[in-house]
Amino acid sequence: MPHIWSLGPLHGIVADPIYWTIMTNASGLILPFDNSYARLPERFYARLPPTPVAAPRLLKLNHALARQLGLDPDVLASPEGVEILAGNRVAEGSTPIALAYAGHQFGGFSPQLGDGRAILLGEVVDRDGVRRDIQLKGSGPTPFSRRGDGRAALGPVLREYLVSEAMFVLGIPTTRSLAAVSTGEPVWREAELPGAVLTRVASSHIRVGTFQFFAARDDLEALRLLADHVIDRHYPEARAEAQPYRALYERVIDRQARLIAQWLLVGFIHGVMNTDNTSIAGETIDYGPCAFMNAYDPATVYSSIDTQGRYAYANQPRIAPWNLARFGETLLPLLADDSEAALAIANEVLATFQPRYAAALLSGLRRKLGLFTEQEGDAALAEDLLKAMAENQADFTLTFRWLGDAAADAAADTGVRDQFLDPAAFDAWAVRWRQRLATESQDGAARRAAMHATNPIYIPRNHLVEAVLAAAIEREDYAPFEEMMTVLARPFDERPEFASYAEPPVGDQSGYRTFCGT
Ligand code: AMP
Ligand code: MG
Repeated sequence: MPHIWSLGPLHGIVADPIYWTIMTNASGLILPFDNSYARLPERFYARLPPTPVAAPRLLKLNHALARQLGLDPDVLASPEGVEILAGNRVAEGSTPIALAYAGHQFGGFSPQLGDGRAILLGEVVDRDGVRRDIQLKGSGPTPFSRRGDGRAALGPVLREYLVSEAMFVLGIPTTRSLAAVSTGEPVWREAELPGAVLTRVASSHIRVGTFQFFAARDDLEALRLLADHVIDRHYPEARAEAQPYRALYERVIDRQARLIAQWLLVGFIHGVMNTDNTSIAGETIDYGPCAFMNAYDPATVYSSIDTQGRYAYANQPRIAPWNLARFGETLLPLLADDSEAALAIANEVLATFQPRYAAALLSGLRRKLGLFTEQEGDAALAEDLLKAMAENQADFTLTFRWLGDAAADAAADTGVRDQFLDPAAFDAWAVRWRQRLATESQDGAARRAAMHATNPIYIPRNHLVEAVLAAAIEREDYAPFEEMMTVLARPFDERPEFASYAEPPVGDQSGYRTFCGT
């Protein structure tokens, strides 16, 4: 994690302990905001407050995250706090802005996208000294809204809340969710839906598309300011290197390579990996039509808008370097004075994505298989299991979970075998796996514990997420949402009372589609 303490004067705000809680004074609520992005030139954003809503009501507050941010959850849950979370009141110290960015969406370039329905309230420095953006999503129209209404529907807000927090607990870099507030106003999509606002927390909201915005305008000065800002904020160690901008590119590539490997290792499909949804800090961002895979199939696509399968599960490690190539293009003028030389540097760095990704994936697969040492045939062993899983429609999550039990005791194979249409396919593979395990001295119980700590039993399965959202939307019943949050808070701990949350959907779910979170 980057520590802002080492940053230069622009960002060197040392948080005074007195500001670690929200304080009230005569003029209202003071949040300990500091806004380094708002100190960048005016062409980086538009200044405007959120648009107030009719009847804000707090649906969910993330107490632990609030405390991590140095905010008092009780104050956030107070009527004044909820007004801030709804956009009806601007906290003192906040300089609300909508960020400008561009982006390639499904391969086509839009020179201007930007925060069309989000407002950055400001940044706070959290308890670990890490600077975090606090953003409202669904907070009303901005100059970047194009034809959109600037609003968010309740379902996608709750889905983003649930899935981003689940990802966090799984140890995957992600934006987080601080609060969800209903607006008391309808939004019109295919139908009339209840509206909501999500408070999102991120290392930053700078995207590949932010760089593209300035590159498309040949604004070299802005590109350099942005790159310097990113180095200071996210990669301060790059500053000390001989070529800081090259070092920046390398680090962004490294974070993305690790991130995509982690997605694949839990069966996550982002669904809309456009360059404007590719975080420079390497966090999972913009949860729209995302979903977790049930039966293992590398071609899985859930998003209704991804008709070509561009962002299918197994395409993600191919799309990420495509997005990063677009990032590299924006950096060319900073990499070298000579354009040929700059291109050579960019290509050399981009070529490191594949080995970085492959290494992260393989080490993750070793952990999933319970391997403590590194041996020559490990990648092939993992690939052969995945192949058998695909051929036998084995559930991705449960296969690895029950493999942990099989590792401790061959008599406990039933769970994992049952995942395979033809259990003999597992048996054949397991002979090789057990030979491999026998080359290590680890005892069975320790191996099982290690595997269960890396292979979750509970993931936000699509059919369960949909049921939770339906209860909230149709009946204003938030009990299922709360229970699912409780289950997903400890995804590695099997609890018999929550057995149904581990179950794959019954019947044909191949028709499952998620819709872009607008
Ligand atoms: P997304 O698909 O959510 O990543 O958004 C892509 C672009 O569309 C971004 O510029 C968003 O700000 C914008 N956008 C999405 N939904 C809306 C909306 N309801 N109103 C205005 N802009 C939107
Ligand atoms: Mg987006």
